[in-house]
Amino acid sequence: MSNINPYVSALKRLEKVAEVIHLNRTVLEVLSRPQRVVEVNFPVKLDNGEVKIYHGYRVQHNNARGPYKGGIRFHPAVDMNEVKALAFWMSMKCAVMDIPYGGGKGGVAVNPKELSDSELERLSRNFIRFIAPVIGPKEDVPAPDVNTNAKIMDWMVDEYEKIVGHSEPAVITGKSLAKGGSKGREIATSLGGKFVLDEAVKRVGLIKRPLKVAVQGLGNVGGNIFKLLSEDRNYSVLAVSDSKGGIMVDSLEELDFEKVLTHKQNTGSVVGFTGTRQISNEEILELGVDILIPAALENQITRSNADKVRAKLILELANGPTTPEADKILVEKETVVIPDILANGGGVSVSFFEWGQNLKGESWPEEEVFTRLKEKMIESFKGVWENSRNYQTDLRTGAYVLAVKRIAEAMKI
Ligand code: NAD
Repeated sequence: MSNINPYVSALKRLEKVAEVIHLNRTVLEVLSRPQRVVEVNFPVKLDNGEVKIYHGYRVQHNNARGPYKGGIRFHPAVDMNEVKALAFWMSMKCAVMDIPYGGGKGGVAVNPKELSDSELERLSRNFIRFIAPVIGPKEDVPAPDVNTNAKIMDWMVDEYEKIVGHSEPAVITGKSLAKGGSKGREIATSLGGKFVLDEAVKRVGLIKRPLKVAVQGLGNVGGNIFKLLSEDRNYSVLAVSDSKGGIMVDSLEELDFEKVLTHKQNTGSVVGFTGTRQISNEEILELGVDILIPAALENQITRSNADKVRAKLILELANGPTTPEADKILVEKETVVIPDILANGGGVSVSFFEWGQNLKGESWPEEEVFTRLKEKMIESFKGVWENSRNYQTDLRTGAYVLAVKRIAEAMKI
């Protein structure tokens, strides 16, 4: 990842939309800063008996529309600017999706792959102890993000419940089913992305079949979109990557999801999968495919490679993969970008369903979750599409127009 400050990128987008809709100055000033930032230094006992201090954050950007909502990331590159940007994007995303939440985000600067399972558990529990005073089911509701998952969410809820002394499953979403999670949450971000991708393909008029796809970042989100696209004959995935590099096949072939996944599980990476050519994480962005899906980290498409992107459509499943400078180049090239705050909104939508089920003591069948998710994604896509047409602008600006107007309205009230 480059050293571009993602919070500066986030603010550039806000300033652009403020100009487009002649946003009230006070609203602009309020949205330019998070409402609260919490920085914690907390100890974790390692298996060898040593105690190490870790640095973590929780940023609460805006709660005009409801409790702060956003994931917790474990990654060595986590810092305050990244968490501030991610919290800002959550406010925008929840507004685009018309979910009654504000935006928040958290993170710990750590490489979880270097920790044992019990060290990871102690780290997760201690982090929650330190941010417990500012979270709660009606205040701020965390969820998983990069390198965190249902098991980690379960530890965190359990720790929170010990602190408050009663059951409180709605404090965190993305839990396991046993701990009150929602059916369908694991795949929700990718499935939501697939719903908007299908819609965009129809509207943009990409008629060739199958549409060739490259996916950068084969984690929860990237892995699940690879699976969903492999099951649909309209798409064929030619290239995928993870942090160790990427692989691709010839344009007449496609990658077999199950076999690639088994190879990754056995070796720790997709690299080296039989019958493929190795490519770098930079090359995967520049392949001659129809659809590019960044599903890893921020700042992947920048001013230095945007003109080399050959895909006609980009589905941003990662948060912040494209910088504002790259946006300009892509708009000029007429590349259609489905922006992160819409494309990956399926995750927070099912998190919202999970929260609702927890508060009411319900458990919905998977079919109901997916039906509601589809409705939410298509409705949000239409809102973004109409705003971009009304303001004669790109989809990202259309999405920000929709989001900022909704937040501003709630702030006025
Ligand atoms: P994850 O930890 O499950 O997976 C991340 C993947 O990215 C891993 O496979 C890792 O190997 C790979 N990766 C890391 N650095 C890379 C690089 N430089 N190039 C290529 N691959 C690299 O995380 P995730 O939950 O799948 O999240 C991925 C992205 O989606 C993030 O931007 C996250 O904020 C966003 N997102 C996630 C959710 C969710 O529900 N998990 C929801 C919305 C948005």
